[in-house]
Amino acid sequence: SGINFDHYDDIPVEASGENVPEPITEFTAPPLDDLLFENVQLARFTKPTPVQKYSIPIIAAGRDLMACAQTGSGKTGGFLFPVLSESFKNGPSPVTNNGGYSYQRKAYPTAVIMAPTRELATQIYDEAKKFCYRSWVRPCVVYGGSPIGNQMRQMDQGCDLLVATPGRLNDLLERGKISLSNVKYLVLDEADRMLDMGFEPQIRHIVEDCDMTPVGERQTLMFSATFPDDIQHLARDFLSDYIFLSVGRVGS
Ligand code: ADP
Ligand code: MG
Repeated sequence: SGINFDHYDDIPVEASGENVPEPITEFTAPPLDDLLFENVQLARFTKPTPVQKYSIPIIAAGRDLMACAQTGSGKTGGFLFPVLSESFKNGPSPVTNNGGYSYQRKAYPTAVIMAPTRELATQIYDEAKKFCYRSWVRPCVVYGGSPIGNQMRQMDQGCDLLVATPGRLNDLLERGKISLSNVKYLVLDEADRMLDMGFEPQIRHIVEDCDMTPVGERQTLMFSATFPDDIQHLARDFLSDYIFLSVGRVGS
């Protein structure tokens, strides 16, 4: 697996939907935030991968997305870069405090990323930490099979971008330790694997919780290596006016 940097410009990409934004050919600010762009350069990401070329402008344009691409094609940056760019721009809410100027940390996440396993959630979290360098955004990760007490205390301290396995996120929701009322971005990474692992009820519960958000401006982004019937069904249920992106050969 991994990216073959010699041939990735030849990988066929299909994008369908209404008014598909033009793909980017280079990392530039805009559409990336200046600080995020600097962090991308620090990470020595010199060129966007095929999925990133399309997903970055699509997400930056405010669209929902269903993207199918194989493992190692750069999907993490494909959603993290536009999501973090928007978060960096917005910044924390400034408040006046005792005549001085301070920042009030947002208590609840504006971005939630679901992943099937502890290992995958941790990988996304590590990537998020790297690209949040010198920003105000605080990423957190929660997963099952680990004591919930520490994770509850982390949630009490506030979290801007939350990476979570569906079971543990549901648990924290049921305990009232987290609210999804601020969520602007909901990402389902490795959606096919999450369904294979039996997470559909938890995922549906989480999406329903997000649906209670009064602001109707949430973006939902789904990523999957394959596109079988049950994933097509979820996409129809969760996404609105979405763009379908398929990179390389995608199995069903
Ligand atoms: P996927 O989620 O599609 O399996 P990842 O996002 O984990 O793929 O990316 C695979 C590897 O490629 C990671 O090590 C990541 O850091 C690296 N990578 C991703 N995008 C780029 C890029 N534009 N330039 C260089 N390396 C990249
Ligand atoms: Mg991935």
